[in-house]
Amino acid sequence: MGFDVDQARRLNSAVGHMRLVAGETRMESKERFSLLTVPAGLRACALLVHLGPGELQLLRSIAIDHGLSPLVARSASLRPRPSERYGGDISRVFREHDAKGDHQVLWICASDAIRKQLKSAPSDSWALLDYPDCCVQSARRSNAIVGEALARAIVDKAGGDPKLVRKALREDWKVSVEVPEKLTMLASARSVQRTNSAFPFALHTACDSCLDDPSSPTAELNQRYAAFAQQLDPALYAELLLAAAAISPDTSRSLKDRDP
Ligand SMILES: [Zn+2]
Repeated sequence: MGFDVDQARRLNSAVGHMRLVAGETRMESKERFSLLTVPAGLRACALLVHLGPGELQLLRSIAIDHGLSPLVARSASLRPRPSERYGGDISRVFREHDAKGDHQVLWICASDAIRKQLKSAPSDSWALLDYPDCCVQSARRSNAIVGEALARAIVDKAGGDPKLVRKALREDWKVSVEVPEKLTMLASARSVQRTNSAFPFALHTACDSCLDDPSSPTAELNQRYAAFAQQLDPALYAELLLAAAAISPDTSRSLKDRDP
């Protein structure tokens, strides 16, 4: 697939002064790169979840000026529905707790048609982000199992009392959960580190089968995005490699292997 470097460059200079990630500078270049894949024609949309409220409105109008279609949504719409397996009172406590962390997020879509598609079916949106299906399914599975195990542990520790469950969530009680080893790894920061090390330009966390296969869907995406980054802006390309290496356990090797 080809890409339009000029469109992406124009947006890159328009957002050059902006902070896209409130309070975490290491993620800044990756977030900017993720946004630029849309005007480049590499992805149907990008999702920005770390913007401050002022930046969100500013980026929204910059995107419109650049012929893109932004959509402001709630972060709660991205989460899977909370478990309904408990009594109504406990389920409500979990829902209220989730609602407290809710904030605005910004989708940047390549066209109005994509924006409409997204608005009508937000739960099917991961494919529009061009994340490989194997990685999406694997993350969903492990998040569901780990999330369910955590909820169960909290309810058990609170003795099934909704008031105590609320207190446990508010005070962030520590609980221990038992989940299969493989899933603990998937849900942990380790798969993020492994993805950074193997695929510094990937915009998602790779599943185990992608990580083990040099011709996997994630490997192909990584190659395409690396070629784009290099043409777009050699400084950004180098920043992305450095940012990935900074949180990678295998710094020297990933840099050596990826150098052009
Ligand atoms: Zn995968």
